[in-house]
Amino acid sequence: MYAGHLGFALGAYSFRRTIPLWLVLIASQLPDWLDAGMCMASIDRGPYGLYTHGLVAVTIGAVAFGVLTWLLARDLTGALLVAGVVLSHYLLDYFTGLKPTWSGGPIIGLYLYSRPVADLVLESFTVVAGWLLYRRTFPASVRNDGMVYATLFALIALQLLAGVVLALSLGGHIKC
Ligand SMILES: [Zn+2]
Repeated sequence: MYAGHLGFALGAYSFRRTIPLWLVLIASQLPDWLDAGMCMASIDRGPYGLYTHGLVAVTIGAVAFGVLTWLLARDLTGALLVAGVVLSHYLLDYFTGLKPTWSGGPIIGLYLYSRPVADLVLESFTVVAGWLLYRRTFPASVRNDGMVYATLFALIALQLLAGVVLALSLGGHIKC
């Protein structure tokens, strides 16, 4: 999943606006950022990305980001929310991909990537639902402003771009 994570983050943020939005956005994509960083540094990510997307890795990330949020905002509910956003990455990826569990454990997931239309529907639903919650955080007078809609269009553009990159990587044109 790509833009869906950010949609989920926007929705989660709408319930706790005392925590920085950027932190929630990064938390939602944490395993993917780790993937990208380790890939660029040529560090082994383990079978099926076990070291970034395994249950242990995601749980460690959730605890780390929960603690970070608490240090930044001194807000226990906010810290739990951000930790939950990191954990949500695993659940959302379960729908779209094939994910590791633990070392030697089963590989699980519904792998919607193999059904691009179903994938697009799920990602779009998550993006729109999260964006609608996010939009509610603005005063009624500015909810229809271009900037509020620009967030939605940016997420949809990101999803389409991700679809192209995915198609290229499945076709073997790019690695990582
Ligand atoms: Zn992921």
